[in-house]
Amino acid sequence: MELVKTRFAPSPTGYLHVGGARTALFSWLYAKHCNGEFVLRIEDTDRERSTQPAIDAILESMEWLNLGWDEGPYYQTKRFDRYKEVIDQLLAEGKAYKCYCSKERLEEIRAQQMKDGVKPRYDGHCREDHSEHSPDEPYVVRFRNPDTGIVAFDDMVKGRIEFKNEELDDFIIQRSDGTPTYNFCVVVDDFDMGITHVIRGDDHVNNTPRQINLYRAMGAKEPVFGHLAMILGDDGAKLSKRHGAVSVMQYREDGYLPEALLNYLVRLGWSHGDQEIFTIDEMIKLFTPEQINKSASSFNTKKLNWLNAHYMKTQPRAEVASELKWHLNRLGIDTDKVQGPDLELVVKNYCERTQTLKEMAEKARCYFEDITEYDAAGVKKWIKEGSVEILKDSLEALKALDSWEPEAIDKALEAIAQKHEVGMGKVGQPLRLAMTGTPTSPGIGDTMELVGRERTFKRIEDAIAAFSK
Ligand code: GLU
Repeated sequence: MELVKTRFAPSPTGYLHVGGARTALFSWLYAKHCNGEFVLRIEDTDRERSTQPAIDAILESMEWLNLGWDEGPYYQTKRFDRYKEVIDQLLAEGKAYKCYCSKERLEEIRAQQMKDGVKPRYDGHCREDHSEHSPDEPYVVRFRNPDTGIVAFDDMVKGRIEFKNEELDDFIIQRSDGTPTYNFCVVVDDFDMGITHVIRGDDHVNNTPRQINLYRAMGAKEPVFGHLAMILGDDGAKLSKRHGAVSVMQYREDGYLPEALLNYLVRLGWSHGDQEIFTIDEMIKLFTPEQINKSASSFNTKKLNWLNAHYMKTQPRAEVASELKWHLNRLGIDTDKVQGPDLELVVKNYCERTQTLKEMAEKARCYFEDITEYDAAGVKKWIKEGSVEILKDSLEALKALDSWEPEAIDKALEAIAQKHEVGMGKVGQPLRLAMTGTPTSPGIGDTMELVGRERTFKRIEDAIAAFSK
């Protein structure tokens, strides 16, 4: 059986957005599903709009999503010699020709065609050489598209699609500055790289017949195409910045786990019964193009949040912890250097109490940084007459413990509440303020475990000093 090879071929003119990531995921999944290979190719021939930061952002996003590639990244700008070779060959074989038509001439025929009510297209004037050209006269190279017949293909998603050759014109494959164009490079690349299945956005459907004609002119078999319907925002309009985060890295910054985003993306235009949650292995196993939707899918932030909450609780703690570390770093906390709890312990205590890793990092910073202020409303509500006495007693009881297990801590503090004949709140809340600067945190024993033994004592002492004033 033929080895399936798919590719993702972004143009680095901006960050990787959700639509691009979904295309990458579907291509990647199809390759994995078929035990095939996945290629990453950076389509950077548009030198004015392509930037290195955009390339870096694409690679970073792919890595974060864990969409590894078997080959590449290839860069089109490194393949100009090869494109030149194919163009020369097509010229030599009469399958392409040099076009010297001036801008003015092209505008004229266009205006005339509009007037005549026909679709504007190049009239093929330079197919036959009309005049002498000096070597320094600028020209473009056009592909000689067949005049008649139809180009048809069976799209993996949309089914059979047909175009009349009459409607396609002799498109430019090399610009006057000598650079090759997208429709040409993509064919040479997909051919050279042995791509068997091209999965991409349906904004490319109209390019496909042109590309197929090129394959045929090159004597090559075209790949199978699959065009994905677009993604709409919650409001039914085409997904854009207006709908909030659209770049993959923005989702990371907002505190989503890559697994949640992938699971979310796979459901944007693909389904398997009514199943919503898919591990990566399940996606690979179940992903078949027959279940890709023909119609556009809508973005739904609520569902993404729901999936994120799910994965925060169910992903291996070590994985969530490593993502948490990234978020703490962003807050200026280098967890390798500063004193603080084990990150997996933080995840254990906070995975049900927070919706995103960004939130988790914000809540956890108090375990890595000194408490510099206490929440005013919390102090007003919980620091009453007797609170300092309770803090002092608690400190003594805690110091006497020989175990720093949450259960032992809780038990010791329950005894303090009993001794003072108050509810647990009156003991726990002042201690929470002491530990975290706020009146909300996990169970007090768990919180103290996170803070650590010596630091707990120090924080209670500091609070006693602060609240005695
Ligand atoms: N570079 C093209 C884009 O970013 C994709 C080309 C393709 O997948 O064929 O839209």
